[in-house]
Amino acid sequence: MKTLFILCAITTALSLSGQNSHAQTTDAPLRIIAFGAHPDDVEQKTGGMGAIWAAKGYKVKFVAMTNGDIGHFESSGGALANRRLKEVQECARIFGIETEVLDIHDGELEPTLENRKTVARLIRDWQADIVLFHRPYDYHPDHRYVGVLVQDASVIVAAPFFTPNTPPTKKNPIFMYYSDNFMRPYAFDPTIVVSIDEVADKKWNCITAMPSQFGDEHSWQASTYPNVPKDEQGRKDYLLKSVQLRNEAVASKYRDRLIAFYGQDKGSKIKYAEAFELCQYGRQPSMDELKKIFLLNGHTTNQPAKVSPGQDGALFLSAEAGKGVGPKIAYMPEASAFGWFTAADKVEWNVQVDKTGEYEVYLDWSVADLEAGKPYVLEAAGQQLKGTVERTGSWQTFKTEKIGTIKLTAGNRKLVFKPASKFETAGDKGALLDLRGLKLIPVKG
Ligand SMILES: [Zn+2]
Repeated sequence: MKTLFILCAITTALSLSGQNSHAQTTDAPLRIIAFGAHPDDVEQKTGGMGAIWAAKGYKVKFVAMTNGDIGHFESSGGALANRRLKEVQECARIFGIETEVLDIHDGELEPTLENRKTVARLIRDWQADIVLFHRPYDYHPDHRYVGVLVQDASVIVAAPFFTPNTPPTKKNPIFMYYSDNFMRPYAFDPTIVVSIDEVADKKWNCITAMPSQFGDEHSWQASTYPNVPKDEQGRKDYLLKSVQLRNEAVASKYRDRLIAFYGQDKGSKIKYAEAFELCQYGRQPSMDELKKIFLLNGHTTNQPAKVSPGQDGALFLSAEAGKGVGPKIAYMPEASAFGWFTAADKVEWNVQVDKTGEYEVYLDWSVADLEAGKPYVLEAAGQQLKGTVERTGSWQTFKTEKIGTIKLTAGNRKLVFKPASKFETAGDKGALLDLRGLKLIPVKG
């Protein structure tokens, strides 16, 4: 295992320097495998991204670890399992991907050695570059154990003599979690948020093609959701809408990330999204490589643009939409942030404020410990919000924290973020911070 860890470390170091990225060095299509507990989980969590990848020629496979044979209030057993297999096969046809359902009873998935081997073999057979799965924090034991099983397989998939009849992956894959709303012990923290608007119809067609989950009067969803209409069509529309609303909620919740990835104009209009968090196990790619993998490489320069409020009145002052002014400041597309921030540099935003009132201000930044501690000021409509750049651990580690409140009156406003005192810059030493943006949330009441 020692050798393997050294190999992992070398692979990671190379990928951080951007020299060993699969996406950059080979034309072979990327290979993605996505695990879910039941025949409908992967479709819901990553059906959109799966369809986008498939359309680009990437090889995508969805796996349900159980056959879904109890998730219904009227039927069960082999008949239900067969029906659900056909449903996800129809989804696979719609998405242009492959699918597999394992013959493990619904509600009975266990984190056993045998199942760990099964997961490892599936990843190895697929020669996966990317593996997607549930977080191990979830209400459903099957979801939770998918998380445990994939995490437990994440290092041994590259070990030649584990399940030796299946060849190991050539390098450790990248492992990423699906989004969820569970808060304990850790809330989901997205690394990547993608628009699925261009393929949304395919996702909704897939949901419609799974009536045992989202259509039958006695389907799980129809039996457990409140206020489901009694009539056939009303019920189907309602259940589809509930899935659409969940994809809308992901877009709203991570709107600032969508704007950072897609730019102010497109990012603020995205309706449906899926989100993924990099797992700390497996290969650790650079943000630049991840953006390429998720086909988010459209924006290489920032495009200063007027910031207008989102639905809830929040204002996202992304680096992407800001204007860097000064001798050294530069936009870094790989981090969606401004860097090289000297004492003479500043960032300006042109902001459309619709609602007069108090706004909570959140700063999204990173800084190396040695550079932390310099004072900054946010100027807005004659007010000054001052603070000190707190440590984040490294230039690569971004944090978002509340730094205070300001009052804004409706109309066109210019907001400026800059250092509050002079400091020396020599070579690459002496910078204020890397600034990914500011988030202004209206104070309720
Ligand atoms: Zn499930």
